[in-house]
Amino acid sequence: MQAHIVTLPGDYIGPEITAQAVKVLEAVANKYGHTFTFDERKLGGASIDAYGVPLTDETLDACNAADAVLMGSVGGPKWDGVAPAVRPEKGLLALRKGMQVFANLRPCTIHPQLSAACPLRPDIVSQPIDIMILRELTGDIYFGKRWRAEDRLSATDEMAYSAMEVERLARIGFEMAKKRRGKLCSVDKANVLECSRLWRETVQRLSAEYPEVEVTYMYVDNAAMQLILRPAQFDVMITGNLFGDILSDESAAIAGSLGMMPSASLGSGTRGLYEPIHGSAPDIAGQDIANPLGTILSGALLLRHSLGLEDEAKAIERAVSQVLDEGYRTADIFSAGCTKVGCTQMGDLVAARI
Ligand code: NAD
Repeated sequence: MQAHIVTLPGDYIGPEITAQAVKVLEAVANKYGHTFTFDERKLGGASIDAYGVPLTDETLDACNAADAVLMGSVGGPKWDGVAPAVRPEKGLLALRKGMQVFANLRPCTIHPQLSAACPLRPDIVSQPIDIMILRELTGDIYFGKRWRAEDRLSATDEMAYSAMEVERLARIGFEMAKKRRGKLCSVDKANVLECSRLWRETVQRLSAEYPEVEVTYMYVDNAAMQLILRPAQFDVMITGNLFGDILSDESAAIAGSLGMMPSASLGSGTRGLYEPIHGSAPDIAGQDIANPLGTILSGALLLRHSLGLEDEAKAIERAVSQVLDEGYRTADIFSAGCTKVGCTQMGDLVAARI
């Protein structure tokens, strides 16, 4: 197949890790007879330096014309002094909005080779942990009205959801559950919040269309606890923006290594935005020691969700697993007895195993 991918390396370690993911995607294209074209653009601080804004209209147009977008990370101390309206992170928010991506996918897998990095007791993670958290990205309390009383002594933030917003997110969750282990857990606070009651009613209504998916409903406080106590019970979890923000970071802590975690943001079509969950790590930039695996695994999500190339996605995930099996580690996941490698070498090792 032919696919056109826009890359947005961004700032600090962004270009180092993105280059490794591109290298691996090129290895996939060679092995499986695909043609991927890459169009590199600037985002965040790099774009501020070049054009005075963190995202240009031309870059957004290029992203919306591509099959998929692969991003590194943006921001860092160099741009701390810029006006709030043009901060690097604003470029990322504008990109998500401009691409109309509303579902954030955060897989949480514990690589058995890195189980020592998991803070949970070994008996809790003795069964495989493979959770997909789907967080709604464009609604909820983050986008409602907010105000402060005249005396400045009380404040209000409005939480709002429409059935349409819940339905389009939930549909992605049901479709994903169908392709995985057939289980969907919808997380809300329906015992208290009206938005959550709408959320639950909408998911219940949709569930009639997906009889093959087993649906459970969980209050968010219990879900936060269950993720720690019995993480293996979860397959796909769907939740709103606020609860998802918290639960997805909790799941990242369970997996134990920030540098390993990929993410995807999807809209109603197949086009998506793929990025590691970590930031631009200014403290280690320019030393070729960053872990590129979160970005490489984001490339696997890109193949799976935007290009429909499941075998190729699995090939990347297998190659990463093989490199870990062979004992290669970047500094952030290094432990005694392993072989320490840099960012570029890690990219080379994964590409060679495709
Ligand atoms: P960070 O994720 O960049 O770094 C936190 C710690 O993890 C650092 O010690 C860093 O060295 C380490 N780390 C992160 N990624 C790593 C990798 N791939 N390999 C090895 N070690 C890694 O978080 P921060 O320091 O709070 O933020 C730095 C900048 O990144 C800030 O400007 C922040 O706004 C921005 N940021 C961007 C994104 C994004 O682009 N999506 C996300 C979060 C933070």
